Amino acid sequence: MSGRSLTGWGRTSPTRADLVAATDPAVVAHALEQTGRRGVLARGLGRAYGDAAQNAGGTVLTITSLGASVTIDGRGIATVSAATTIDDLIRAALPRGWFVPVTPGTRQVTIGGAVAADIHGKNHHVDGSLMAHVRRLSLITPTGPRTLTPSDALFWATAGGMGLTGVVVSAEVALIPVTTSRVAVDTDRTADLEETLAVMSDGDDGFRYSVGWIDCLSRGARLGRSIVTRADHAGVEALPGEAAADPLAFAPRRPLPAPPWAPGGLLNVATITAFNEAWYRRAPRRERGAIQSIGQFFHPLDGIEGWNRAYGRRGFLQWQILIPFGSEDTLRRIIERLASARCPSFVGVLKRFGPGNAGHLSFPGPGWTLALDMPVGPAVLGPLLDELDEAVVSAGGRIYLAKDSRLRPQLIEAMYPRLPEWRRVRAEADPHGVMNSDLARRLGLLEGHRPAHPRPRARPAAPTPAGAAPGLNTLPS
Ligand SMILES: Cc1cc2nc3c(=O)[nH]c(=O)nc-3n(C[C@H](O)[C@H](O)[C@H](O)COP(=O)(O)OP(=O)(O)OC[C@H]3O[C@@H](n4cnc5c(N)ncnc54)[C@H](O)[C@@H]3O)c2cc1C
Repeated sequence: MSGRSLTGWGRTSPTRADLVAATDPAVVAHALEQTGRRGVLARGLGRAYGDAAQNAGGTVLTITSLGASVTIDGRGIATVSAATTIDDLIRAALPRGWFVPVTPGTRQVTIGGAVAADIHGKNHHVDGSLMAHVRRLSLITPTGPRTLTPSDALFWATAGGMGLTGVVVSAEVALIPVTTSRVAVDTDRTADLEETLAVMSDGDDGFRYSVGWIDCLSRGARLGRSIVTRADHAGVEALPGEAAADPLAFAPRRPLPAPPWAPGGLLNVATITAFNEAWYRRAPRRERGAIQSIGQFFHPLDGIEGWNRAYGRRGFLQWQILIPFGSEDTLRRIIERLASARCPSFVGVLKRFGPGNAGHLSFPGPGWTLALDMPVGPAVLGPLLDELDEAVVSAGGRIYLAKDSRLRPQLIEAMYPRLPEWRRVRAEADPHGVMNSDLARRLGLLEGHRPAHPRPRARPAAPTPAGAAPGLNTLPS
């Protein structure tokens, strides 16, 4: 087969596609006129973890070829090309006293990719996800170019629509005003899950940003111990002398190269347990008002270039779930199950989301989101995550499509109940099914999947190792 081999950030499941450099909107429009069986898809910087930016046997438009462009008006409305990265936007906005309304854990995502995933940051409980701040989108669909505002159904089908409604070529984003490029951070180290949830529930609303780094390998009395950090943009008066002289300076360090590969067996339960212990201990028990740079607080992983290669040849996956408020028991049982199964997962991320938006497939909604990176390899991983997915569905939750590489299609409609409505809106813009992706085919997003069993069934619990907790389905609630 011709074309280039592509993977997501997790470096699993490579597939080949013909790459077309989207040098200008006319190239995009021309590519969408084709009716080849395998279709067309936009790709940004490939930071989606799974197969969302892959299109096996079809065409992939590389949107970075459009080039970055940013203009900012006096009200802080930025007009950006879809190829502009969050990094580009921060660099253009900060010197003028503006900041991005939402940033993910890396600056290396394009605006096109950010819209397609309706990305969230550490401020979802206050500011919502990205699309709450997008005023206008220019989208090229297979039926022609469209200018969309929040009053259009197609705007909301594109928000979190994983590139399947067309190709975003530009967007207008409302920035937020800041007076410095620093944040003032409060840190609390919690002893267990109850304390973690209590600290975050009681205090989050007093901070714009909040996140918990949760140790998903500790068990017993330490189950769910975390480092909770919460922050607000710092005022000039909070900065130390030399920083106050240039309060909007933004000069992140050049990333250090990651080791090209991890020696076989390095990422095992013992080494990751030791890493999690060290990570937990190095955090202050309680600290108030520590001044940190934007890179330190929002994008620590950007300091290591190509860190995703450190997981070795087999790659890794990220499992990110939403568990609605009121189902904290399920969250606890999931964390117990992960810890007792001894699945090697690095320190995970826990956030408290605020209300969702009108995006049919937008991921965030009121509840807790937990995200865990895990190296692919251990045989227990697939059955364990299948089992946990069912617990997520039973609690009314879902998994984040921008991170997914392995969800079973039978669960998708239960997780995203507005999928049929999304399909109708999408079909008006793409009646002949030109837009397509590996993710869409795997999950039956476009046409629906005909499951062998009409309803998701509770699967029997996988055999558990001695001393491990029984499967979630067998646990009393
Ligand atoms: C270290 C790390 C941390 C992250 N942290 C967060 C986080 O905190 N919050 C969060 O929400 N996400 C997070 N993500 C996920 C990331 O924000 C999303 O996957 C985002 O979509 C990646 O953007 P990209 O430019 O790399 O797009 P790609 O990965 O290339 O593509 C992702 C999707 O966007 C579509 N797409 C890309 N460009 C366009 C376009 N111009 N028009 C239409 N569709 C398009 C693709 O078809 C695909 O479906 C993180 C990822 C990494 C690697």
